[in-house]
Amino acid sequence: MTAQEKEIELDKIAREVKAFKGLDIAKNATHPVPGEGNPDAQIMFIGEGPGFYEDQQGRPFVGQSGKLLEKTLKEILNLDRLEVFITNIVKFRPPDNRDPLPEEIEACRDWLDRQITIIQPKIIATLGRFSMAKFIPDVTISRVHGQSRFYMLPATSYKMIIFPMYHPAAALRAGSMMQEFVADFNKLKDLLTIQKNELSSPNPVPDQISQQTLF
Ligand code: URA
Repeated sequence: MTAQEKEIELDKIAREVKAFKGLDIAKNATHPVPGEGNPDAQIMFIGEGPGFYEDQQGRPFVGQSGKLLEKTLKEILNLDRLEVFITNIVKFRPPDNRDPLPEEIEACRDWLDRQITIIQPKIIATLGRFSMAKFIPDVTISRVHGQSRFYMLPATSYKMIIFPMYHPAAALRAGSMMQEFVADFNKLKDLLTIQKNELSSPNPVPDQISQQTLF
């Protein structure tokens, strides 16, 4: 698919999200938040769900967490937010920023799976435990953050790298978490560099190279 074709498909999803009224959080949303960014992104960030400011603006990560994400993206990866794709596990704001419910995650699952399949990012960085659990169930984030692993999207032959990270809101709450968040971003930079070298290599041997940094 060309970038333009991807954009058309992503717009279709955004329209579906905006028209959806099948959950209370969807009925009560000021603005649904489908996600935004580069349809051809190498890297996709998946958060938990929209907060107050995201609900006001219909855009992901535009509050304090978003400011930290944007700043770290620029300082460490030298990327602007629209060069990557940013979305969430749930596309509507849970009231009072409560955790998303299993049925809310399930109702939004197909949109997220389609976004991943259309964009085909090389790396998915999960922000927080809810998006991590989609790909890596039954682990604690404190144990696996900053460690990449391969993941095959069910019912596809599409393989990507999952890179679990703490949520930026957690980094803003505690200095030690901030250090881990920044350290993980630096690892992500190394991972992206390896991916880029593989793509530009005349004889790419992706698995062989990647395995050196993956477990
Ligand atoms: N937190 C999230 O998980 N997602 C957003 O879009 C904003 C804050």
